[in-house]
Amino acid sequence: MIDPFGRSVTYLRLSVTDRCDLRCVYCMSEDMTFLPRADLLSIEELVRLAETFVDLGVRKIRLTGGEPLVRRGVMELVRRLGGFVGAGRLDELTLTTNATQLGEFAADLAAAGIRRINVSVDSLEPEVFRGITRGRGDIGKVLAGIAAAKTAGLKIKINAVALKGVNDGEFDNLIRWCGEQGHDLTLIETMPLGEVDGDRTEQYLPLDAVRRDLERRWTLEPLSISTGGPATYWRIAETGRLLGCITPLTHNFCEGCNRVRVTCTGTLYMCLGQEDSVDLRSVLRAGGSAAELRQAILEAIAHKPKGHDFIIDREHRRPALARHMSTTGG
Ligand code: SAM
Ligand code: SF4
Repeated sequence: MIDPFGRSVTYLRLSVTDRCDLRCVYCMSEDMTFLPRADLLSIEELVRLAETFVDLGVRKIRLTGGEPLVRRGVMELVRRLGGFVGAGRLDELTLTTNATQLGEFAADLAAAGIRRINVSVDSLEPEVFRGITRGRGDIGKVLAGIAAAKTAGLKIKINAVALKGVNDGEFDNLIRWCGEQGHDLTLIETMPLGEVDGDRTEQYLPLDAVRRDLERRWTLEPLSISTGGPATYWRIAETGRLLGCITPLTHNFCEGCNRVRVTCTGTLYMCLGQEDSVDLRSVLRAGGSAAELRQAILEAIAHKPKGHDFIIDREHRRPALARHMSTTGG
């Protein structure tokens, strides 16, 4: 799959649910209305879609959400897609999770062929973590889940959204903890996706400034590795671990974009920051053949936009896009 700008699409981010057991302030509103179950792709439909993308050249799939581990039947999906890795049809199957259920799932995920996971931890302070998750998150449970994943042999990358006045005093501590535990750390700028109650322009913290401040205490050696994604990486000399910064608002990272996203309802988005989409569920449910499904995907790729135009709208204080990250998949 080559798009009109010559970019090869090899990475699929597949959302398996819009639901979550947490309500992170930057991601969801307090009283989210979730989709009726019938709207969600079944596990069979998810497998069929994923397999079609694999046939078209996708080499890496990330399961996301919402919280992928709250989706009923998710392990069946993981086992089926893990089989593609075992058969050499896929290089990597991975997952982004909030870790609340990892204690239960870590060993099964590893057994099914997952090698690396991303875990979101915005704060190590119990009260701050509770606040960010609107009273639902227990950092003790999250850390126990991460420990279980480590014991199961999974490589872990920690993601933390940088929130002004909330966790901006904790980055040194996160770097230290990740160093001790052997995890890489990626800081993420807030993106203006979906209504979340509260003012995102007040939470927005530019990571350029954060990094300049960190450089007063840590030796950050620039790395040239590129994942085709929006992160820039440094090696932290003192810990040996990587620090990534995802800065969608301050840098343009679209030139090397290799990914597309499919929502839990089977809508294919060619860009996280644009509205263009194609409804693959209707092709699936109309009894479309493998060839028709492939055709629908290829037509969509032919319209992959050049880049996003995110902007935190200070005038109107509205999100740039109405859909939440939990719908499109982070
Ligand atoms: N529930 C899982 C988790 O939290 O890791 C997976 C889904 S979550 C939507 C994926 C990632 O998106 C998380 O790292 C989360 O912090 C990030 N995220 C959600 N909303 C965001 C926003 N508005 N701006 C930046 N990152 C966001
Ligand atoms: Fe749930 Fe992840 Fe969104 Fe937090 S960021 S509310 S854990 S989906």
